Amino acid sequence: MSTLAGLFAPDRVAVVGATEREGSVGRAVTENLLDRFDGAVIPVNPKRETVLGTPCVASVAEADPDMAVVAVPPGAVLDVVRECGEAGVQNVVVLTAGFGETGAEGADRERQLRGVAAEYDLNVVGPNSLGVMSSPVGLNATFGPDAPPEGGVSFMSQSGAFVTAVVDWAADAGLGFKDVVSLGNKAVLDETDFVRAWGNDPDTDVVVGYLESIVDGRAFVDAARETTDDTPVVVVKSGRTDAGAQAASSHTGAIAGSDRAYEAGLDAAGVLRAESVQELFDAARALAGGDVPESNGVAVVTNAGGPGVMATDAVGDAERLSLASFTDETVDRLAEELPDEANVYNPVDVIGDAPVERFRTAIDIALEDPNVGAAVVITAPTATLDFGELGEAIAESTDDHGVPTAACLMGGGRLEDARQVLRERGIPSYFDPARAVGGLESLAEYREVRGRSYPDPEPVDADRERVREILETVEDRSDNRLGVEAMEILDAYGVPTPEGAVVDDPAEAQAVAEDIGEEVVMKIVSPDILHKSDIGGVKVGVPVDEVDDAYEDLIARARNYQPDATILGVQVQEMLDLDAGVETIVGSHRDPQFGPLVMFGLGGVFVEIMEDTTFRLAPVGSDAAKEMTEDIDAAPLLRGARGRDPVDIDGVTDAVRRVSQLVADFPSIVELDVNPLVATPDGVRAVDLRLTVDPEELEQ
Ligand code: ADP
Ligand code: MG
Repeated sequence: MSTLAGLFAPDRVAVVGATEREGSVGRAVTENLLDRFDGAVIPVNPKRETVLGTPCVASVAEADPDMAVVAVPPGAVLDVVRECGEAGVQNVVVLTAGFGETGAEGADRERQLRGVAAEYDLNVVGPNSLGVMSSPVGLNATFGPDAPPEGGVSFMSQSGAFVTAVVDWAADAGLGFKDVVSLGNKAVLDETDFVRAWGNDPDTDVVVGYLESIVDGRAFVDAARETTDDTPVVVVKSGRTDAGAQAASSHTGAIAGSDRAYEAGLDAAGVLRAESVQELFDAARALAGGDVPESNGVAVVTNAGGPGVMATDAVGDAERLSLASFTDETVDRLAEELPDEANVYNPVDVIGDAPVERFRTAIDIALEDPNVGAAVVITAPTATLDFGELGEAIAESTDDHGVPTAACLMGGGRLEDARQVLRERGIPSYFDPARAVGGLESLAEYREVRGRSYPDPEPVDADRERVREILETVEDRSDNRLGVEAMEILDAYGVPTPEGAVVDDPAEAQAVAEDIGEEVVMKIVSPDILHKSDIGGVKVGVPVDEVDDAYEDLIARARNYQPDATILGVQVQEMLDLDAGVETIVGSHRDPQFGPLVMFGLGGVFVEIMEDTTFRLAPVGSDAAKEMTEDIDAAPLLRGARGRDPVDIDGVTDAVRRVSQLVADFPSIVELDVNPLVATPDGVRAVDLRLTVDPEELEQ
């Protein structure tokens, strides 16, 4: 795909389907273009001489534009786009609806559109798009009502309605835009193209996205990683329910909804995720300021006690922020400058009668403290303040010190002057202290993301041929699941397993048990029995001389549970000391957008109930695997809670890394659970395995 500059900064725009008909898309977009655009607008309509007073031409070729906006009926779109291709018009924005969103016929039309675009290498936005805008050149190629104020935010939205809503609201909210694109059905250009384009655009300070899906997760991750080096990307992803999870036959599959994949994917991409539209634009306003905090210490300066406490609480709750503790020098200086009743420790209370000068002095002193990386300045309406001047004071102090500041203006009309000044000076202001703190938290998060490196995972040496052979055994079976009979897959990847074997007669079981020791664990092995312990199919602590009986009993239980069950035999396994260890789970699930994910969490038979798990895109290197062991709520258990010895965390990390490489190497592994991976102070052992294989992918 060639550069997208032509989409946002064209010289000549043709409107194909321009018309004067009241209420039509063709009229609205023509009006919007004629209104402000710096370049030429050429209506294309063979039936007219002029449209809205502007001379018309009969064809795209005659118009000779560098961008075409298409607002013709659905049946005519393909011909027009082809005409664009023939005429060498590379940028095409299809506003027309009636494609993939409308059923089989529309979907077919969309496929054809994609074909034409590929044939001529076109940059196509849409179809079913509201259009594109770009402030610097006054381009409003949409059929929405207004153009947004100019600024540094570039915004893509999968919902056209959301574009109009945000643009309408932006002026009041103090948010200015560089480019805006309504993605529509994303037949050709999607979020990945725009993240990449805006990453290379010096006039885009922040990329903001409202997304319902990501077409190609891995491509998006690659593009976003490059962009977030110097341009923050914030996304709200709507649609969190997930019907797909029901069908899963593994613990991991059951837990891994598509939202867990998005979470892992956006995190891997270095993209900040907002939970709501409000959070999205709160973050955008903070990030648009350009400064990032050098440290996570926050100073709070307020003229009202209550809101100061609220801000302090919000800082306490924020994952990446803490209340800065002032140096003695700061405290002394504040004590010297402020009245006796003021609080000179953080949060600084300049008290209700503070004039602008006192506020300014306190802010300056606080921002000079080396422990302060960011600040929240709070004001309630008081009779002693000129709010326009206060706004200036906050902006100047912020500029002087290069410390990002969020203003919290707790009032309405009385504070309007301050709001306006801050808006002009690019300082975000909020009503609610928690939102102001939220804005700063986004900055702290971005600083973290920007500092990241993405090392390639360390290579894993493995017997891949052996794994391939074992996976292929599903081809001879009626189902596509493998269980403990396939434990050798783990051995082949260097994941430690206990001593043991799967056998199909009691005498062999006896022999294996004698080799292992005094007591063993025995398990039924059957593709028809998903959760062995649910049917009493796992016996722990079987003395060697009872192995015979236990064998018969396990077979009987399986028969009892399902008379026609396929029984492959019984696994006889070394018994591990669970009292000294923790049952963890390492799993994998293949997501349609993001590919293989690796999961780590608290394991055992209650995995789904606890759901204490974390996901990453596979494969992971040892740093990421280590992080996963720290992410879960039960992390303290691994570190040795209540006098217990810590488990072998390096062993756990290594197992996670190896399993993640296994699933990355074999696309045929759809789902996989190692549950439990028993972690003890002496090492780790994978005692159970279950995986689902997609036979269609085996040849790969
Ligand atoms: P399933 O998950 O199909 O019920 P598992 O093999 O995971 O079967 O066994 C269930 C539980 O039995 C484990 O979560 C663990 O508590 C215990 N267990 C299984 N194998 C061993 C072993 N080798 N040593 C100690 N405990 C074990
Ligand atoms: Mg299990």
